[in-house]
Amino acid sequence: MNDHLVRILGNDGSLRAIAAATSELTRAICRRQGTDPTASVALGRLVTGTALMGALLKGDQHLALMIEGSGPLSRLHAETDAFGHLRGSVKNPLAGLPPKNDRFDVAGAIGRAGFLHVIKDLGLKEPYRGMVQLYTSEVAEDLAYYLTTSEQIPSTVGLGVNLDETFAVATAGGFLVQAMPGGDETLIPLLEERLRQLPPTTRLLGEGKSPLQILEQLFAGIPFTVQMETALEFRCNCSRSQVAAMLRGLGADEVRAMIEEDQGAKVTCEFCKQTYEFTADDLAALPQLEN
Ligand code: ZN
Repeated sequence: MNDHLVRILGNDGSLRAIAAATSELTRAICRRQGTDPTASVALGRLVTGTALMGALLKGDQHLALMIEGSGPLSRLHAETDAFGHLRGSVKNPLAGLPPKNDRFDVAGAIGRAGFLHVIKDLGLKEPYRGMVQLYTSEVAEDLAYYLTTSEQIPSTVGLGVNLDETFAVATAGGFLVQAMPGGDETLIPLLEERLRQLPPTTRLLGEGKSPLQILEQLFAGIPFTVQMETALEFRCNCSRSQVAAMLRGLGADEVRAMIEEDQGAKVTCEFCKQTYEFTADDLAALPQLEN
């Protein structure tokens, strides 16, 4: 099944839900980052959560989620636009931790102390920045905690990443369910019970269920409308001109030092790992250095 997400709204307006299949894009991101198994699961969860929250963006809005933790992964980062284009990175891709209770030790890899940062570029002058302390460091609960406390929309998040026998990403996906303000509160206990009984998303996706079928199972008997369906894919929007602008931003002294000491500069995109090379002549020709 191709990666995509579906967003639905209960017909009485009280419940909103999003489900996503993210296997391909998670595999693509983890391969580029060179993650070990535990790091793959951690980064895959963050990428999937970012895809789910990205379903609430419009037009040219962007969303970035960043986790900074005390564990060996140090910093995880995922970004999306409103059109399902995602990229992700992890500062240290090797968690180097053994499994704990037969599960990958994601909380240990991220670290129990730290912060989840949410940066939304909504096209206003300044981006919106939110931050919460890590709640369980398992990612899904941290996102739910952020949405419930900072955005004040009671939310449940499920995120799953399954690896195959070679430790490559086999299946990834998740869901987000939100209780909208002023809705029919009697539906919430029913949905909570359904969520408790719902098998892991990766198992449902692995059985061939689509994100819509997962939501249909969750919302059985609750009338809803599909609001949108979006394809999801890995895409990095870095470019040579963007890197040139970044180098210019370092200031003339810094760039002159690169010309004199290194005879050029090599910059690697943290997301797609493409390397941009600038010769001393390229650097000297950067606009602000020309005069
Ligand atoms: Zn890139």
